[in-house]
Amino acid sequence: MSTFKALGLNDAILQAVTDMGFTAPSEVQEKAIPVLLREETDVVALAQTGTGKTAAFGFPLIQRIDVNNRNTQGLILSPTRELCLQITNELKNYSKFVKGLNTVAVYGGANIQEQARQIGRGAQIIVATPGRMQDMMRRNMVDITGIDYCVLDEADEMLNMGFYEDITTILADTPKDKKTWLFSATMPKEVAAIAKQFMKKPIEITVGTKNMGAENVSHEYYMVNARDRYQALKRLADANPEIFSVIFCRTKRDTQKVAENLIEDGYNASALHGDLSQNQRDLVMKSFRNRQIQMLVATDVAARGIDVDDVTHVINYQLPDEIETYTHRSGRTGRAGKTGISMVIVSKSEMRKIRTLEKIINKKFTQKEIPTGMEICE
Ligand code: ADP
Ligand code: MG
Repeated sequence: MSTFKALGLNDAILQAVTDMGFTAPSEVQEKAIPVLLREETDVVALAQTGTGKTAAFGFPLIQRIDVNNRNTQGLILSPTRELCLQITNELKNYSKFVKGLNTVAVYGGANIQEQARQIGRGAQIIVATPGRMQDMMRRNMVDITGIDYCVLDEADEMLNMGFYEDITTILADTPKDKKTWLFSATMPKEVAAIAKQFMKKPIEITVGTKNMGAENVSHEYYMVNARDRYQALKRLADANPEIFSVIFCRTKRDTQKVAENLIEDGYNASALHGDLSQNQRDLVMKSFRNRQIQMLVATDVAARGIDVDDVTHVINYQLPDEIETYTHRSGRTGRAGKTGISMVIVSKSEMRKIRTLEKIINKKFTQKEIPTGMEICE
């Protein structure tokens, strides 16, 4: 097994690695870091969720930044506000022993003037959602015409969310000779198209099997009558008192309703969806991270890419419309080598979808029965 040092990282980063308690690089880190540090080429890296992609591009990016130059040199595009903040925090951690490096987060729902001020003080790295980034470009609050590196993180998610146009507009403002590093869990044709259109002969790094779910997650389904969904959810929670889970619903409305019902029924739950203000969303995420909330009821958009340690269960209260989204949901558990369970509550008419999913994740589901009240009391 190789060490972080052998990958060519400098002392300041190695010190942060030790500080964070990372003992050995993950596979994607082992493969990507030396390439990103040394090669002057574009790179496409595919690895499942939870395999440490942030550090795989974050470490080399930080090492390559010229801290004596205050200009923006690296731009990271990320699909959601939560992810944007998460990546920014991670990068700040990685670079805490690097003097003079400034990373700024740019995302919607927060004060744009304040973000512009932060950039004005000199931000060598900007982590942005595509929408707010464009907004700031239109208002001349950012200058990315001199960047050396552009990272497209969770590229499949960004395209899923309809950011193709925004990405195109943003990239058009960047220098032709910059390096583009694309990171993604899956390689649907939209991602391949972006790579083809905007990248020059990228080196491709693939870890594990393309389009596969996380290795350490077991998948279970519970068949119920559609009207018994909520009851089933409660039983599953009762049977797992130590549960620390993300529960996915299809719509904002269902998300809100399920969370409200759970709270009313005495569960430690909270909702996360796009109708909440950014402030509320940040608060909910903070309480979830601190374990003050055991059951986070969320929409796919709000929960995208969120990395919270030790999520024990992902519960699909309803299956997603886009069946591929299931991979991303189940990727919220079984992270960083831990094991996790992804549960699906299905009605009989949805069984076909389970079989489709088995093909997508290349794994079998186990059929389980909803525990009865008696079983829970035992
Ligand atoms: P991805 O972007 O691939 O979904 P993340 O970058 O969010 O994954 O990392 C998932 C988790 O693994 C994070 O909590 C991160 O701190 C942790 N992690 C990353 N690299 C390592 C490592 N080499 N050793 C231990 N934990 C790691
Ligand atoms: Mg990621």
